Amino acid sequence: CPNVYDNTKIKLQVKFNRKEDKDFFYSTYEHTETEVEKDNKTNVMTCKNIKNKYEVMIEKLKNKKLGVLIVGIGGNNATTMLGGICANSKDISYIDTYDIKKPNYLGSVFLSSNLRIGYNKKNKEHSYCPIYKLVELYNPEHIIFGGWDINNMNLKDCLYRNKVFGVDFIEKIKNDLDYVPLKSVYFKGNFIADNQQLRVNNILVGTNKLEILEKVRNQIKEFKKQNNLNDVIVLWSGNTEKTIPIIEGVNDTFINILGACKNNHVSVSPSIIYALAAILENCPFINSSPQNTLVNAVVELAEYKNVFIVGNDLKTGQTKIKNFLLDFYFGTGLKPKSIVSYNHLGNNDGKNLSSDLQFYSKKISKSNLICDYVKANDNLYVSDDDMNEKNMRSKHKNIKNNDFCKGDSLISTSTDTVEIEKDCAFTDMLEKQKVNSDIVIKYVPYVGDDKKAMDEYISEIFMNGKNTICLYNICQDSLLASPILIDLILLVELSQRVYFKSLKMNDSNEKILCNGNINIDNYVISHDMVSNKYKNFKRMDSILYLSSLFCKSPFNSSVYKTRHSFFSQLESLLNFIRIICDLPTDAHLDLPFMA
Ligand code: NAD
Repeated sequence: CPNVYDNTKIKLQVKFNRKEDKDFFYSTYEHTETEVEKDNKTNVMTCKNIKNKYEVMIEKLKNKKLGVLIVGIGGNNATTMLGGICANSKDISYIDTYDIKKPNYLGSVFLSSNLRIGYNKKNKEHSYCPIYKLVELYNPEHIIFGGWDINNMNLKDCLYRNKVFGVDFIEKIKNDLDYVPLKSVYFKGNFIADNQQLRVNNILVGTNKLEILEKVRNQIKEFKKQNNLNDVIVLWSGNTEKTIPIIEGVNDTFINILGACKNNHVSVSPSIIYALAAILENCPFINSSPQNTLVNAVVELAEYKNVFIVGNDLKTGQTKIKNFLLDFYFGTGLKPKSIVSYNHLGNNDGKNLSSDLQFYSKKISKSNLICDYVKANDNLYVSDDDMNEKNMRSKHKNIKNNDFCKGDSLISTSTDTVEIEKDCAFTDMLEKQKVNSDIVIKYVPYVGDDKKAMDEYISEIFMNGKNTICLYNICQDSLLASPILIDLILLVELSQRVYFKSLKMNDSNEKILCNGNINIDNYVISHDMVSNKYKNFKRMDSILYLSSLFCKSPFNSSVYKTRHSFFSQLESLLNFIRIICDLPTDAHLDLPFMA
């Protein structure tokens, strides 16, 4: 059991009525969705409730062995997560300046949050239960970790270099982190900032990018074999890369990207190589950085192989607060008009982000969520005369959402980047005008991992009044990020064991890209039809939308549109847990108390 069980000293047991056998737990779920049709001529919306029933199978963990390979394993987030898990598993005590402390998992939803399961009939109170008591999660302390870094420093020395934990803590765990990272993928072309050059001393070499891809696949295979693992998850925790251009014929399809790798195309980034290698080896891929690794070619392969992909970027401090403050504003009928965020930090992430191209990826990731809220609440902004919508539309008539990086030239130099921003912005220009928003990040080495964040929110209130809220937040960056990495790993592992069967589903609705294997340029890719394994039961979509709570810029596909509301993201995760426990979803209505 994770140390959390000992920490909480809760001997609680939860009993369910759900069925089980030696391999699976079973539950059922009835979902009602409202189908809306809008007649644009009459402006009438017609709603129809559609019901669907699902059978759910949750595979038991039994003796499963899970491995996680981390890209950037020597970095702040990775070593902080590993140090934290190690300290918890050894249940050490350590001196933190003056006091004796014990490790914990604070900041992890799965290991520290409670969920409302129902109401207590006797005392008429709500009943809550820790999530890890309800659902069988993989114990993070049993995960076999390994990974890559472009720098060959042993992890026990990285703990000192990264300056997150104190000396007493490090001395007590460092021998458990005695590990030299695997040789890594590194390409010239400013993918990460020039200021990272000094770290580069541990890289794979090959005649082209396809050869490097093969080497990474072999590293994954070797790790799995050596440790006798059932499953491996690959987690990108490397530096933020620059945003790469979306180019037809290069990164739009899997076949094209293989060709691009062979031809050493400049826009195939190291993170894309890791993602392709992971998926080809049937390993889920998590992108905890902001760059657009999950290009269409990667998505296509993941969907074809039925492998989960998760991204982008971690929702840790400033964006997490922004996310639920936007719920507060829009949910209570207030109208945000200006949101300006500033932060400075002094760790290696901050150093990398001090370069324009990498900062640009972060800026897109931090900005995305406002636009979706504005779109959902468009009616609040119709009377605004601070923008001439018509002019704006004609000026930008050729620019669509996320079109900013078409063509290599657009992001080739930092001056170009600034130009794009001024001209068409990175999301919808019109939405940006409705809520003025800007983001500044500065690198100040002296503050190290202690990030300082300042935000100013101005909203319009009743009768055109103004309300200004200012936040000043000091936090240890990596200590906020690491539990989120743990949550993402636990979520992906759990999701791999959950299968849904729609009782209304008929085969013609199934998206089958291909039956059997495909063969491209000597690449034989097997099509792992999970539904073949467990008849008509399917895993969730490869783009794991349940992860949106943990991601700053939850990844959208052409099929799936992420919900940006924090409440909705949290509840979707909690309801998922309720469903697999055969509990009803929570409607947040206290009707039982009326009886
Ligand atoms: P870091 O600079 O400390 O660590 C990154 C590591 O990746 C370094 O050790 C570097 O050598 C390695 N690396 C870079 N390119 C690589 C490659 N191609 N292959 C293998 N290794 C490579 O950064 P960090 O603070 O650990 O952050 C990691 C990522 O997480 C960054 O992109 C950051 O923006 C993102 N992030 C961090 C936070 C936070 O609060 N700390 C929040 C959200 C997102």
